[in-house]
Amino acid sequence: MNWNGKSVLITGANGFVGSYLAKELLDDGADVYGFIRPEDMAAMEKNLIDKGIKDKLKMLEGDLTDITSLANALDASQPDYLFHLAAQSFVELSFRKPLDTQQINCIGTANLLEAVRIKDLDTKMIFAGSSEEYGMVISSEEQYQQALESGKTVFPEPETIPELPVSESNPLRPMSPYAVSKVYGDLLMQNYHHSFGMDTVVSRAFNHEGAGRGIMFVTSVITNQIMKLKYSETDRIVIGNLNAFRDWSHVSDIIQGYLVLAAKGKSGEAYNQGSMRTNSVLSYILLGMEQAGWNINSIETMKGEKTIENPAEINNDPIFGVNFDKTRADQVMLEEGLEYTIQDKGINMNTDQGKVVIEFNPDRFRPAEVPMILSDNQKIQKIGGKIQYSLSDVIQDQLNYFDLKENRE
Ligand code: GDP
Repeated sequence: MNWNGKSVLITGANGFVGSYLAKELLDDGADVYGFIRPEDMAAMEKNLIDKGIKDKLKMLEGDLTDITSLANALDASQPDYLFHLAAQSFVELSFRKPLDTQQINCIGTANLLEAVRIKDLDTKMIFAGSSEEYGMVISSEEQYQQALESGKTVFPEPETIPELPVSESNPLRPMSPYAVSKVYGDLLMQNYHHSFGMDTVVSRAFNHEGAGRGIMFVTSVITNQIMKLKYSETDRIVIGNLNAFRDWSHVSDIIQGYLVLAAKGKSGEAYNQGSMRTNSVLSYILLGMEQAGWNINSIETMKGEKTIENPAEINNDPIFGVNFDKTRADQVMLEEGLEYTIQDKGINMNTDQGKVVIEFNPDRFRPAEVPMILSDNQKIQKIGGKIQYSLSDVIQDQLNYFDLKENRE
């Protein structure tokens, strides 16, 4: 698609994803406006400076919860395309601040839709939904029974087990206030198409990472600590739940996906954006350590009961009918059901440079947790979506970022 001269409004253009998207569109010749909360400007300016776009992006100050500021931004930008990325996007914070999360993510999205509708603009809107909307995805009969026995709601009931990889028709069973807020936005976007004929497309992106990812997200938590270990600024890695499996893409692949959705996404439809890989949080640590120069011979829990030899060794065997790179640790967790608990306290990594400790911090375990997610991305592939970066590329990009002392926290 030719972006030259097109007017584009991005809510949250100073965020992690928004700043990558703004740069791409500016490079492609678009006229790019960023709708930005004044109080976020200073904290997130680095995203714009790092990408060299601080003076090229046209800033429009406002707040999603203030419809007048949205109306003014629409008047100023008259957008052909509108990417709605601004949100409270941290799952863990949404348990502590559920009302803030709903206010920004639900009311904010409703305000934006209403402003575009009332102004009768001919704008194509692309909404940042999330894989978190799928939430409780059933990966095995055993997991389903465990979920029921522990009193979890699994509604609607699964029609087939496993439900992986997750396609767009999978039930939405959100498991956090954040996830519920994204279901709201997703369905309202679809509804405004069906009710008012508005041109809305939903992206359900799975986790996406890269240089500049917020320090609170697990991939940054891990790579930041690995580089601190490398420079002897710490002596251990502190982490929460290692058992979760996530489908991690590089942010650049997701940005290309957003552009594909703008060009070819069908109104009123939702599209998964993911890598069709799934790896554990533990693997992110193991692979990050190996890429930063350690060889890990084995791992064992503090008391030595749970041991895995060559845990970072890669294989490409199919799981859930999909071939993707996974570690031996992933395989043992997936096939033998090995799980780490708070009682294990942590893991010792036996490396060629001695023992390195992974310590579990119970405060980082969440009240409810999405256990595993793996995308089926065939729908977006059919209109041109592609995954070009491997998981190692994603990890390397983050390690390089934290190699610079000023980026480490
Ligand atoms: P999410 O998938 O949107 O929740 O993305 P996050 O990067 O915040 O978390 C991914 C997974 O890492 C979740 O299962 C978390 O419980 C797990 N995790 C383990 N330790 C940490 C930690 O220290 N910080 C964060 N953010 N997540 C952690």
